[in-house]
Amino acid sequence: MIPVCEPLLAGKELEYVSDCLKTNWISSVGKYVVEFEQKFAEYCNCKYGISTTSGTTALHLAVAALGIGKGDEVIVPAFTMVAPLFAVVYTSAEPVLVDAEPETWTIDVTKIEEKITPRTKAIMPVHIYGHPCDMEPIMDLAGKYKLYIIEDDAEAHGAEYKGRRVGSFGHVNCFSFYGNKIITTGEGGMVVTNDSKIAKKARTLKDMAFSSERRFLHADLGFNYRMTNIQAAIGLAQLEKIDELIERRRAHAHLYHELLKNIEGIRLPIEKEWARNVYWMYSILIEGEFGIGRDELMAKLLEKGIETRTTFIPMNKQPIFHKMGLFREDKCPIAEELSRKGLYLPSGSGLSDEQIKNICDTIKGLSVGK
Ligand SMILES: *Cc1c(COP(=O)(O)O)cnc(C)c1O
Repeated sequence: MIPVCEPLLAGKELEYVSDCLKTNWISSVGKYVVEFEQKFAEYCNCKYGISTTSGTTALHLAVAALGIGKGDEVIVPAFTMVAPLFAVVYTSAEPVLVDAEPETWTIDVTKIEEKITPRTKAIMPVHIYGHPCDMEPIMDLAGKYKLYIIEDDAEAHGAEYKGRRVGSFGHVNCFSFYGNKIITTGEGGMVVTNDSKIAKKARTLKDMAFSSERRFLHADLGFNYRMTNIQAAIGLAQLEKIDELIERRRAHAHLYHELLKNIEGIRLPIEKEWARNVYWMYSILIEGEFGIGRDELMAKLLEKGIETRTTFIPMNKQPIFHKMGLFREDKCPIAEELSRKGLYLPSGSGLSDEQIKNICDTIKGLSVGK
């Protein structure tokens, strides 16, 4: 079986984790937490890194640290994994949807302004499957309407917009280190920022909002979102290899592109001239001319030992939000099309060229054009 995504732990992970176990520093205090936070923030061109237990908790922490809550609105994409919307809802603020843009599948920047109201507090661009959002228009709008930008970078470690790495365009920027992300800590996440006030607030809130003056005194509603030293040890080892992990994903994408480009009925992912795509998940769309449908293709690939996943189900189609009275009337035709036609092929950094050739041959064999 070729899994859709596996971590590649080919650096000093074992050495650093053993060090934690041997020295007893297994909880959330320890040198690996400090070093991983510093080095990862630096990687993002940010001054401050605040590690968390997941990407989801990083997003929640970011929204909470900005003081966003009841009565506020946050603009989010319709085509995304659900975490950024949950993060908004956890604070009792309201997510407002914008459809995807058909080429990069990220938030359609031409449709954001019409969704801004006096209650809007932030825009949350989500870089999708490794391709960055078009950040300049988003930053212009944020400046014009005095809004925060909260980047969701969970799928795009190391991706670039106009030559600059994602993760510092937002007032706050949130990463995930789940097992299938570009670098992993098993479970984990991080908020990175250049704003010392936001950093301080986030650091306090993630640690139960303990007061620095008087232990067990709480002026805020805090959370326990503390990453362990063991997780950070894995993260640091991963970070040491991040350039290689990204290069491998980019090389895989280029090989996929070469081998699939001449098959009719497959739309391949793109890289805008202003972007560096890190191809977190190599995602394709299956059109009518391919001959068999997306779901049938996935089932046949699985029979041949190739695991795939469908692309996201749009946020306007989620029962949980309908139950909350949200998005019932929202129409997001692009997100809906991406959801209907899309799947991702095996994308882990550890794949071999042989495996990719095998996957592409199998797909070719299943297409009508042959
Ligand atoms: C994976 C992911 C997250 C959440 O990360 P977890 O660590 O699994 O909580 C958030 N946003 C996006 C876009 C993601 O893909």
